[in-house]
Order: sequence, then structure tokens, then C-alpha cells
Amino acid sequence: MFLGPPGAGKGTQARQLAREWGVPQIATGDMLREAVAAGTPLGRQAKRIMDEGALVPDDVIVGLIAERLRQPDATAGFILDGFPRTLGQAEALDRLLKELGQKLDAVLYFEVAEPELVRRLSGRRLCRQCQSAFNVVSAPPQREGVCDRCGGQLYQRDDDSEATVRNRLQVYERQTTPLLDHYRDRGLLSAIDGEGPIDTIRDTIRRAATGAR
Ligand SMILES: [Zn+2]
Repeated sequence: MFLGPPGAGKGTQARQLAREWGVPQIATGDMLREAVAAGTPLGRQAKRIMDEGALVPDDVIVGLIAERLRQPDATAGFILDGFPRTLGQAEALDRLLKELGQKLDAVLYFEVAEPELVRRLSGRRLCRQCQSAFNVVSAPPQREGVCDRCGGQLYQRDDDSEATVRNRLQVYERQTTPLLDHYRDRGLLSAIDGEGPIDTIRDTIRRAATGAR
């Protein structure tokens, strides 16, 4: 399980390591979008809730995870990327894994200092025409303010402004503190230094994850 605030880089690492280990990367945001697109019963339920502008409740998210973990490609292992988000989801996951006869090998928490997170998240720029994403810090376009792909104009989403980013990070921290305690109490939690070169971070994750098996 990879946990960490937005901008900590867990998605990138999860994608690469899932390929290396031959297991699926399970991210609830992607799954919600897929379930909605596929029109599954849970997807339709989630869409109704999101159309009303409400937050998708824990039981729907956990239902999606339950469906996903029962797929044949997840029986040999999986990486949970950014799930659970709340203590309620974590407790539901404990019950589900017990039912499936599975267990977590390790919970890795990606630590990145707040100023660095703000720098990464507020550096995001999107193309008005083709929606390509750039980052003035980590993946700048060749010409400032101009999309490499289509020449369109780049802009910053309201969500990525510094004040909003700080607020998102505070909400995340409030939600996850009890979650981290939950896994620390069970001896599963390791902190991963999420700053520094991607390859170095990946080596640390490999050691932490395989050491736990
Ligand atoms: Zn573009």
C-alpha cells in the first residue's frame, strides 16, 4: 500500500513497480472513472452521487475495491495507490482482505516536506487546447507558457493555486493521521523519503517492500 499526500510521487512509483512486479496498480480515482465509463451498477451509483456534487461515500469506494481485488490478476498481489483515505476505509479493507484470505505486506508512507509539495503542485500547467499537463518545476515546456504538443496556451487550474494546494494538503493530513496510526500499531508502516532522485526512491521502496514479505 502506497500512501502519501498529493504531489508525493506515489503514482509514478506505483506505475513503474506494478509493471516490474507483474501486479496491478489499484488507484480509486482511476477505478471510479472506469466504473462510471463501463456503467457497472457501482459505477452508475457513483456517477449519481458525483453528479449531485457530493463525495463518494466509503461503502461505494470499498465496493469498487472489493470488485477489483476479486479479479484474477490481483490474486498474486497488488499495489494500492492512494487508498484508503480514511480510517473507515482502512477498517473496511481489513475485513475485505480477511475475507479474501489476503494480507498487506507493507504500508509505505511517502514523506515530502510541505514547501516542496506546494512547489510541485502549484507548478502544474495545463494546455487550454489539448489538456496536456506540464510542470514548471519538474517537466517544463520548451517555451514558457506554450504547449509542446499543439502550441496551445498553458494555464494554471484554480485547484493548483498556492492557497488551494495548502488547503488540500491540510485536509489530507487531518484525514490520514489516524490512518497512519492504524498501520503503525500493526507494525506495517514504513516511511519513504519522497524527495531526491526517482531511482533512489524506487530502490528504497523495493527494499522496504521485499523486506516485509
Ligand atoms: Zn496542447
